[in-house]
Amino acid sequence: MSAFNEERVLSVHHWTDRLFSFTTTRDTSMRFSNGHFTMIGLRVDGKPLLRAYSIASANYEDHLEFLSIKIDAGPLTSRLQHIQPGDTIIVGRKPTGTLVVDYLLPGKRLYLFSTGTGLAPFMSIVRDPSVYEQFEQIVLVHGVRIVDELAYNDVLTQYLPNHEFLGDMVSTQLLYYPTVTREDFKTQGRIPDLITSGKLFADLGLPDLDPKEDRVMICGSPGMLRDLKKLLEDRHFDEGNTSTPGAFVIERAFAEQ
Ligand SMILES: Cc1cc2nc3c(=O)[nH]c(=O)nc-3n(C[C@H](O)[C@H](O)[C@H](O)COP(=O)(O)OP(=O)(O)OC[C@H]3O[C@@H](n4cnc5c(N)ncnc54)[C@H](O)[C@@H]3O)c2cc1C
Repeated sequence: MSAFNEERVLSVHHWTDRLFSFTTTRDTSMRFSNGHFTMIGLRVDGKPLLRAYSIASANYEDHLEFLSIKIDAGPLTSRLQHIQPGDTIIVGRKPTGTLVVDYLLPGKRLYLFSTGTGLAPFMSIVRDPSVYEQFEQIVLVHGVRIVDELAYNDVLTQYLPNHEFLGDMVSTQLLYYPTVTREDFKTQGRIPDLITSGKLFADLGLPDLDPKEDRVMICGSPGMLRDLKKLLEDRHFDEGNTSTPGAFVIERAFAEQ
């Protein structure tokens, strides 16, 4: 059996000239945990051109959704940004990754810290009803450079709180904190600075991070990952992985060249 499925693009949404998302069909054999990533791509000159992508849809949905950067010199995204409904993409059949709630110890609050396309795995997790049963509160922090890069802002502030099945859980348990670094916005600044200064917690009316009751997932640029990992380790949070659960888990949103 092939390691890949061919899926048909169903819809494409361009958020900015650097960011777009799209949905595809989902083969019934495709299984994944919310928070997983898989390899996706296009056939170029007959050969698969693949990159790792977090799955932004939840594992009970009948379609797949991805949030993508557009890099003009990027081998894949220079092409992928032009996909249209009806086109075919390749999707790896073996999703994997560490941003899975099972790799965290039980806790009271789940913090999801993301920058840029690092939001994608958390869009899957905040649509998972079992996460709301395991944690009293879910705090989703998304850092971007400009306001238009706040992808899924309307889904998080309008659609999910009014959702037929998830609405009650989302409106009472999900706290969404978008933050912008290079434009005026109601909440501004880098995530590590917002944690260190205490502003994030003051704005949300929450206590400071505590390894006894808080659990953390991080997905962002390599620099942001480094800063947050140090910050958490200084506060005695232990890192979890696929074999040993911990107080926090990390995944890169992309690899540096
Ligand atoms: C575990 C994992 C999960 C990933 N999930 C996603 C995802 O959900 N969405 C997504 O768009 N990308 C994701 N990526 C990055 C993705 O694999 C590709 O790098 C990206 O699609 C660009 O491909 P490319 O061939 O156009 O350029 P590449 O040659 O792959 O990248 C060129 C350069 O562009 C920059 N870059 C790449 N991706 C990003 C990004 N997402 N944000 C900012 N800068 C970037 C880096 O500096 C990189 O060195 C993920 C990477 C990893 C390792």
